[in-house]
Amino acid sequence: MHGSAHRSTCLNCGEEQPIDRVLERVASGESDPPCRRLVGSEQCGGILKSSTISFGQALRPESMHQALALATTCDLLLAVGTTLGVYPVASIVPSAKEAGARIVIINQGPTALDGLADVLVDGALSDVLPQVLQRRLPTS
Ligand SMILES: [Zn+2]
Repeated sequence: MHGSAHRSTCLNCGEEQPIDRVLERVASGESDPPCRRLVGSEQCGGILKSSTISFGQALRPESMHQALALATTCDLLLAVGTTLGVYPVASIVPSAKEAGARIVIINQGPTALDGLADVLVDGALSDVLPQVLQRRLPTS
């Protein structure tokens, strides 16, 4: 929902590319490499930023659409490291619940949607997530 730190986006023309290409340019001496996309015969020159959604930036509609589609067809939804207090993203949890998914909320402290959780884990993610990931579900 909040983009990817593995890609960069030009704030001028919107072109995306692997962020490694930009970081390589920084490593080779460019302190603030501009967008090189050709617009006509000139380079765009726009500011390159990681493809993450920053405060004040709108979510990508296609991300929300895809998340809701997945939420309404999944068996289990994990909500990790969020207070679930910001919409529309928080609406993914009740959408999944209404569609029949089990809900697991893992967060340090309460969330706005704790009442929807089938399993609630309260703890620091750095402590809890490694333990959760080490567990294996029985195969059927
Ligand atoms: Zn550009």
